[in-house]
Amino acid sequence: MTQTAAVASERPSLETAGDTARAWLDANLPQGLREDILQEREPTFAELSEWESKLHKAGIIGATWPTQYGGGDLGLRAHLDISREIGRTPMPESVNSIGKELAGPIILAVGNERQKAEYLPAILEMRNIWCQGFSEPNAGSDLAGLRTKAEKTDDGWVINGQKIWTSGASKSSHCLLLARTGSVEDRHRGLVLFAVDTSLPGVDIREIKSIDGARHFCEVFFNDVVVPEADMLGSPDQGWAAATRVLSIERATNRMHRAWRFENQLQHLVSACAENPATRRLVEHDYARPLAEVAVNIELLKGHVETLVGSLIDGNEIGPRGSLPKMFWSEAHQDFSKLALDIVSRFPPDLSDPLRAVKRRMEDIYIKARAETIYAGTTEIQLGIIAKRILKLNWER
Ligand SMILES: Cc1cc2nc3c(=O)[nH]c(=O)nc-3n(C[C@H](O)[C@H](O)[C@H](O)COP(=O)(O)OP(=O)(O)OC[C@H]3O[C@@H](n4cnc5c(N)ncnc54)[C@H](O)[C@@H]3O)c2cc1C
Repeated sequence: MTQTAAVASERPSLETAGDTARAWLDANLPQGLREDILQEREPTFAELSEWESKLHKAGIIGATWPTQYGGGDLGLRAHLDISREIGRTPMPESVNSIGKELAGPIILAVGNERQKAEYLPAILEMRNIWCQGFSEPNAGSDLAGLRTKAEKTDDGWVINGQKIWTSGASKSSHCLLLARTGSVEDRHRGLVLFAVDTSLPGVDIREIKSIDGARHFCEVFFNDVVVPEADMLGSPDQGWAAATRVLSIERATNRMHRAWRFENQLQHLVSACAENPATRRLVEHDYARPLAEVAVNIELLKGHVETLVGSLIDGNEIGPRGSLPKMFWSEAHQDFSKLALDIVSRFPPDLSDPLRAVKRRMEDIYIKARAETIYAGTTEIQLGIIAKRILKLNWER
């Protein structure tokens, strides 16, 4: 939802949104999806999708979107309350986060009525899964250097180019594509956003195997793909403004549950170790101080997210301040992941199920945390944004 709409729809009865979400999550999270118990197998995409569609029916997902598009029409405070409960619950991350956290908000901001009516309910109901086609082989941090070309024709737009690191593309029905109408020298000008149906002729999606064996990342090639004019989001000259807005949303209000998920992970590690005499000494003696430092970081992060939400409710834009929590969370969480790996590496053999569960979870967190300081803009890029746009320094690398 737009920030203005979020403010306008702010309501007084906000305490209940979090309470209701917590009660529902406690009663309904399937054992097979819990991240804090030992699982025999990974949940399938279909199971995760079904879970998310139930979350929507329960009013937990899409709470801030307007009711005519399937949302709950609640304000940002309610979103924060619900996000806290999502974070405190050891459940899987969304398999449609691009749809819910990027494509949806941007369609709400710049889409026309037909696009909103068609795409938004389909995202919440998990009928449409979205991916984000921004990065290219030579345009990651330097997004304004992207080369994928959109040429206007009588049928609409013809797209040619290549995207990379497109998370979840092979399971997506739609791609939020950023392309350019002019030449690369135009940089920020002439960039345009599209909602591309990934089943269109000429869209070639190839999976990339990553270090954990997953095939989540993809390369996406566009070979003379004809995209109807009706699937352009906003106007051709709005692309850069829309893209940077997407990124500031991605860095700030999205995934605000992460602060509370981080806390849940720390608590899981500490309690699982403390409950077992074979590992108690690790947390109560060897690693007590660094664990306490993690707890401080989590409190700072939670406080920062709450302050940011308060500021948005007061009617302020996120702008470059989206870089602050993104950078702080990714660096602090990555540090925690190293510490957690250190601790579980010192577990004795013949582990009990609760210790095997926490070991597996911490190893998984460690592998995933490698990427946290890269996606949605690297730490160096966040520092550059903070230096230039918050400190107003005339600074170049
Ligand atoms: C898990 C994961 C999921 C992703 N999912 C998606 C997705 O779904 N869709 C999508 O479009 N992209 C996605 N990405 C890509 C991501 O946005 C890029 O990897 C990121 O923007 C960095 O770009 P790059 O990889 O090209 O690295 P580069 O931009 O080449 O950077 C390489 C190094 O140089 C540094 N650097 C670059 N420019 C500067 C500068 N000006 N000042 C200081 N240092 C600099 C960087 O910090 C980095 O350390 C994903 C990445 C990851 C890791």
